[in-house]
Amino acid sequence: MPMKNKILIANRGEIAVRVIRAAKELGIETVAVYSTADETSLHVKLADEAICIGSERSKDSYLNMNSVLSAAISTGCNAIHPGYGFLSENSDFVEMVERCNITFIGPSSKTIAMIGDKASAREIAKQNGVPIVEGSDGIIENVQEGLKTAKKIGYPVMIKASSGGGGRGIAIVRSDEEFTSAFERTSMEAESSFGDKSLYIEKFIESPRHIEIQIIGDTHGNIVQLFERDCSMQRRNQKMIEETPSPILSDLLRKKIGAAALKLAKAINYVNAGTMEFLVDSKGNFYFIEMNTRIQVEHPITEAITGIDLVKEQIRVAYGKELSFKQRDVAIHGHAIECRINAENAMQGFIPSAGKITNVVFPGGIGVRMDTHIYPGYIVPPFYDSMLAKLIVHAPTRREAIKKMRVALEQFVIEGISTNIDYQYLIMHNPDFIKGQYDTGFIARFNMLVEAKNRE
Ligand code: ADP
Ligand code: ADP
Ligand code: MG
Repeated sequence: MPMKNKILIANRGEIAVRVIRAAKELGIETVAVYSTADETSLHVKLADEAICIGSERSKDSYLNMNSVLSAAISTGCNAIHPGYGFLSENSDFVEMVERCNITFIGPSSKTIAMIGDKASAREIAKQNGVPIVEGSDGIIENVQEGLKTAKKIGYPVMIKASSGGGGRGIAIVRSDEEFTSAFERTSMEAESSFGDKSLYIEKFIESPRHIEIQIIGDTHGNIVQLFERDCSMQRRNQKMIEETPSPILSDLLRKKIGAAALKLAKAINYVNAGTMEFLVDSKGNFYFIEMNTRIQVEHPITEAITGIDLVKEQIRVAYGKELSFKQRDVAIHGHAIECRINAENAMQGFIPSAGKITNVVFPGGIGVRMDTHIYPGYIVPPFYDSMLAKLIVHAPTRREAIKKMRVALEQFVIEGISTNIDYQYLIMHNPDFIKGQYDTGFIARFNMLVEAKNRE
């Protein structure tokens, strides 16, 4: 008798909910895992089964590889979906999963070890003729070597953790004087956040756009690119708003970046969903910065414009099926924008806000999508990422999408804790945003009070 497919979701929050929905639509059983702080979380209620894997701190639960694996084995799962963050890009974990004969819904441990490491990814991109940001050849071993490299490429430079993610483990350095302390600080931060203190250096690109390409491949040699996402709206190197298509890309540049990403993905025989991230400078030069070997937070905007369910495709290809489409079948339809709704107080330096959500009213209507794990009465635990919800809109044009987002934000009510809904609403009215003229430094320059006054 063939084994029944059953997936353990090694994550929490909205992405766990997202994966459970996709699995259910495919008729596949699901198992949720949760920490003691997440007993009442939505993913626990929606999965067919749920199993507690440890206490509130991530390292004791969602990052505890043995707990996650034991949960999968004891519930008879034949696959694990890692979501994003946590263990999703941990090649040691994926290797353990492979050894247990459990299907990892993502690329192989070998691929992750090779391309998930940011310094090594730069090397692979370079070998394949994909432009990278000028910087160090691999890891910088010590301060002296770092100083030499920084001098050679010229300040300002960025010191970056090779295992970094989520905008952490990155420092900008403007002079020799700043270098030593920044190097030591970043190295310590990298060690404590990612368990790996290796650093590399890149030239700091002034006012760039962050443009990334969605890739998906199957085990039959098909690899497709699903166009770009513009994620230039960032706070502290972390994305806050994403849109597709990018308002700054010409058709030619779109083709060029897409082709570069596809070439790199083919060179490493990439399987499952992944994203190639690039920076584009003011002259239209583009540079590869990293690959995320997992589903990304902002994947729904690509789903909106292509009509493809990326998580279902991830599951299908992991079970050995062919991609359900070819490159020639995909095209861009309309425009999509995502706002990340975070539990944070934008008026008070974005300090995280936790506690009970006393009331919620979700926006809706044609072209409005809500991906979230919150509900009235839900208690936001203080231990994890502050993202509460993703609000995604899809409309025929960018202008209509912006208008739709404004209305959706206006009608989105979350009571009991602070959120960035008002902040997002102000950005949707900013003249530069409306023109599509913004770079990764936009939010650092954005003054909420001034913008609010301008609207009065
Ligand atoms: P995306 O690339 O999908 O936009 P983000 O950079 O916003 O993702 O990260 C999504 C989540 O994953 C955040 O909670 C972030 O802290 C976490 N994360 C991303 N990369 C890593 C990593 N290398 N190690 C630990 N957590 C990570
Ligand atoms: P993470 O792994 O945390 O996602 P990335 O390498 O993708 O880190 O960089 C995150 C963000 O930091 C980029 O989107 C960009 O805004 C900024 N950044 C990274 N490298 C550079 C660079 N060399 N010059 C300017 N900005 C950069
Ligand atoms: Mg990145």
